Amino acid sequence: MTAQIFAIANQKGGVGKTTTAVNLCAYLAKAGCRILLVDSDPQANATTSLGIDPRKPGTSLYDVLIDNRPVQEAITATSLDGLDLLPANLDLAGAEVEMAARMAREQLLSKALQPLTCEYDYVVIDDPPSLGLITINGLTAADGIIIPVQCEYLALEGLSQLLETIQQVQRVLNGRLKVAGVLLTMSDARTNLSTQVVEDVREHFPLETFETLIPRSVRLSEAPSHGLAVLNYAPESAGALAYEALAAEFMDRFPIGIEANSEGLPETPGAGTPDPTVF
Ligand code: ATP
Ligand code: MG
Repeated sequence: MTAQIFAIANQKGGVGKTTTAVNLCAYLAKAGCRILLVDSDPQANATTSLGIDPRKPGTSLYDVLIDNRPVQEAITATSLDGLDLLPANLDLAGAEVEMAARMAREQLLSKALQPLTCEYDYVVIDDPPSLGLITINGLTAADGIIIPVQCEYLALEGLSQLLETIQQVQRVLNGRLKVAGVLLTMSDARTNLSTQVVEDVREHFPLETFETLIPRSVRLSEAPSHGLAVLNYAPESAGALAYEALAAEFMDRFPIGIEANSEGLPETPGAGTPDPTVF
């Protein structure tokens, strides 16, 4: 059995990529899945959010990608059973420049993860807010991309560029890649704007958009400062319940035991390849 690999990506900053990566992984682990979260952002927000200090010496994703350190050396357990982390640190900021001169520079992450795929049910990659080489590495390694979209003004801006990048990766580097889901984040049912964005996104991505809507929730933004996933910080909060529901919907959409093969993820209602020209 090999892991299904998902990249959480959107070049727009602050849309909820890391919050989604950490909390989706936490609830998948709680449900009994074996999870690896890969922090591929030099900001190391996912690493910090799980209570791991990115300044502490130790092997990180940088050493794996750039210095060919064995990936197993970098993986660390977290306080949640079943959830392992491949941590980032600030060194990653220089990695794009160093990767640029490498042979098969887009495939470094994919190759690095290969020895691990039997050990996990899902691997989730938290990507940085750019379409640079690190994100391309994430998309090249992944079976599916999850795109968080913030329910705010200009939410859809930049999505056509992202979809074009996805199509290029599909054509040139990774024919398995699919849009596994679009996730609406930070919604606020009290504002017309938020409701309008929800409608627009569902109209553009009728198959891909997750039913689960992530509400704006103070508890979700507080949990990382305690080094905790929301399930260990405020499990009854609206944000926690939403990520728990998302994990259930995710497992339904991408059941364990149905392997991603050379064709990619099984055809599911959510795994499509939307046309970037719709915008
Ligand atoms: P970056 O592009 O910098 O990596 P990101 O897309 O990973 O950002 P997050 O770091 O997850 O986004 O979220 C941005 C900010 O919004 C953080 O302070 C986070 O705590 C907060 N946040 C995320 N989701 C929610 C939510 N549903 N409710 C309230 N605050 C949220
Ligand atoms: Mg982030």
